Parts: sequence; C-alpha cells; structure tokens
Amino acid sequence: MVERDTHYDSVVIGASPTGLFEAAALAETGAKVLVVDQSDRLGGAWTTLDLPGVGTVECGSHYLIDLPNVYSFLEEVLDIRLVLLDPPPQYILPRRVASRLCVDFTQRWGGKISPRVHRGEVSVRSFRNLASPYYRYVRHLLGMDGPPRRPLKYIVGGTSALVGALERFVEQGGFDIELGKRLEDIDLSVLEKTVRCRVGNRVITAGELVISSCTSMPSILIDGKFVDIPGDIIPSVQLHMMVDGAAQRRLTFVQFSGSDHAILASDLTDSCTPPLVPADRRLLSAYVRTDVPHDTATAQAILDDFKRAGLLEREARLCFENWSRFDLPQRSPEELAHIEKLGGGLFRTLFTHSFSMAISRNAPRWTPFLKQRAAKFRNPGDASGQAIAAQDAQYNRV
Ligand SMILES: Cc1cc2nc3c(=O)[nH]c(=O)nc-3n(C[C@H](O)[C@H](O)[C@H](O)COP(=O)(O)OP(=O)(O)OC[C@H]3O[C@@H](n4cnc5c(N)ncnc54)[C@H](O)[C@@H]3O)c2cc1C
Repeated sequence: MVERDTHYDSVVIGASPTGLFEAAALAETGAKVLVVDQSDRLGGAWTTLDLPGVGTVECGSHYLIDLPNVYSFLEEVLDIRLVLLDPPPQYILPRRVASRLCVDFTQRWGGKISPRVHRGEVSVRSFRNLASPYYRYVRHLLGMDGPPRRPLKYIVGGTSALVGALERFVEQGGFDIELGKRLEDIDLSVLEKTVRCRVGNRVITAGELVISSCTSMPSILIDGKFVDIPGDIIPSVQLHMMVDGAAQRRLTFVQFSGSDHAILASDLTDSCTPPLVPADRRLLSAYVRTDVPHDTATAQAILDDFKRAGLLEREARLCFENWSRFDLPQRSPEELAHIEKLGGGLFRTLFTHSFSMAISRNAPRWTPFLKQRAAKFRNPGDASGQAIAAQDAQYNRV
C-alpha cells in the first residue's frame, strides 16, 4: 500500500559523511529534512569489507588530505581522534613531475580527480602523462613545493571508528533517514517549485533535492520531459593484499608513480578488526589502473614494485589478495552548476570530489549549526565518550 505524501523541505541523497553533515546543518535551521541511501549502512565511500579468514578491513576512502578545517572539523563535530601518520607519508614521484610547476589539474580533466585511464588501451607512458598533473596537484595540496611539508593525519580506528561516530551523530536526531532504499520516480515541477519522488512505498514531496558529485542519478522528469543528469562514471579499482614476513613498517600512505600498475598505496594494518596476527602480517591496499589484469600476477608485480622502491622487505610474501571495483560519477563544478540550472532551483549540489575537499569547502558553513550538536556529543560519561575510550584502547593495543 502506498502511504500518503510526506513533505520535506530538503531531501539529501546519500548517507555519506557529507550528506549527513548537510542534513544536520539544514535541520538546525528548522528545515524538515530526509536523508535517503540505497545502502543499508552509513558512510558512503567510507566503507569496510569482510574478508574471509581475515576480518573487517577498510575499503574505499582511507586518506585525509590536510586542507583547511578538515581535521579540526572532524574532531570537533564527530569527536573522533586523528593522529599523525607514522611513518610519515611518502611521495615517490618521477623527477620530471617533481621539478615542474604545479598546474591546476582540475582544468585538465574538467575537474575529475582520476586520470581517465579506463578509456581504451593506454600505454605506460601515456598513463604517466595522464597521472602527472594529479601528482603535481597532490604535491601542491600537501605543500611539498615549498617548506614546510604538511603532515598527514588519519582517524584512530579507521573507517569503523568514523562510521561508529556517524551512527552516534545520527542518533542525535533532527532529521529523518531511510537506509536501504533508492530515491525513485523523481519528478520535478519547476513551474510549481516542487519535487515529487518515491522512497520504497512512500511518496515524498520536497522543496529541493541535495545531490553530490558522486550521487548516481537515473534520468528524471523535469516539467514532464525525461532529462539525463550528467556525470561520467569513473571506475576506481582497489586491491587489498595480505602479506606475511614484513616485520618492519615502512609504509603508511604512498603517492606512488614508480609502478606501471598502481597509483596510491596505503598500509591498513592498524584499522583491521580483529587486529592481525602474527605481528609480521600486514594489510596493504593499492589503487590500481583499471586496464591491467586484476589477478595474482598483477598483485605480485605491484608488491615487487613496492620492494624495489624500498617500501617493503624482500622477504614479504603475498598470502591473500582481493580486488574491488567502485563505479561512481565524479562530477566537476561545471557539471554541478549545469545540474542546478536544469533543476531551476530544485536541485542543490555539493562538490564532493574528495572527502577532504568537501569538508574543507563546507565546514565554515556547517560549523555554526553543528557546534550545538557537538556540545551534546561531548557529554562526558555518555555512550559516545565510552566508545571513544574503547577506540583509544584498541589503538594502543595495536
Ligand atoms: C574507491 C574510492 C576511494 C576513495 N578514497 C578517498 C580517500 O581516501 N580520500 C578522499 O578524500 N576521498 C576519497 N575518495 C573520494 C571520496 O570518497 C568521494 O569524493 C566522497 O566520498 C564523495 O562523497 P559523496 O557524499 O558525494 O558520495 P559517497 O561517499 O560516494 O556516498 C554517496 C552515497 O549515496 C548513495 N546513493 C548514491 N546514489 C543514490 C540514489 N540515487 N539513491 C539512494 N542512494 C544513493 C550511495 O549508496 C552512497 O552511500 C574515494 C572514492 C572512491 C570511489
């Protein structure tokens, strides 16, 4: 049975951290807000994977670039702890990249953060040419083109801690949330200034839809005509590798161009639940070119590249590998502006190219509204305080 219409001032698509912060900030202004996510868990691209015989491991996002406001906002609003990466991150970049001036890579790829290596056959040389503006951009963000280098921090307890903090954030209430449901049959009437859509068996009307760079949108009706919402799908391939015999930690996060297969690499050992045993076992993750075979031989070649770069001991052996693929749109600011225009005031968009960019841009707008929530969150002795103590205890054990 279809329920009666419910009206919301804003419907936010996606229960990612960005979507939840936006919803809570809107709710603090007195708006009636609904968050909808097709997934049955919070976090969006901050997600985990259960690997048989290994446990829960991070999958998706796992680095936080130090853009203005990012660390302080997350610590204040979610009451999570961030610590400096140890050992510090490394940037293994070709000399020619390191010596060139930084250009704004967003112009080169129309704002897309990943080089489009998935379109047809790509040679190693053209892959490096494609990737080099990205490496220069990261160097620039990290302040590596002039001293001092900005240290990178990461969340104590990793993605599980972030998602736990989001669950506590949502428990504070203020807005409605529907998980495990897609927003469907979206029908915009620009003339009447209303959005009509369906969530499960509920028909919803709304004053606006909030969508982000990475929200997947079907074609929708605008004033009676089907319109495609622009946003090229950009695939990301992530490889998890369990290695034995790597007693000495040399890698936390690496921006890596010394490999013909991998772009970024991280050590996720500290965020595994339960902690990995024995002590010389490590979980490494790499972002991999989409056009190389996703098989054991490629995983082995990537490990060999790490060894040649001095990131891993020679004795380290691959004992388990897992490949994941994420196909998401990554819309540029221009595409988002176009979508807002299409919606005639009924779409509001959030630029969420990287998590850090999204936080950095929006934190000044969100913070005044979310401070009040944060104060409640900080109440010593409550469930959130105890959860943080448990995170600290786990981190100290690892
Ligand atoms: C594999 C991967 C790794 C990344 N690593 C990093 C990183 O380490 N650091 C970093 O800063 N950035 C990283 N990014 C980029 C960053 O995660 C994204 O830019 C950011 O998470 C985007 O936030 P978002 O809110 O737009 O979307 P997401 O975090 O992707 O969340 C979107 C949510 O919306 C839901 N959804 C989408 N469409 C619909 C719909 N029609 N109906 C209902 N629900 C819907 C999805 O289920 C999802 O939960 C990574 C991205 C990927 C894909």
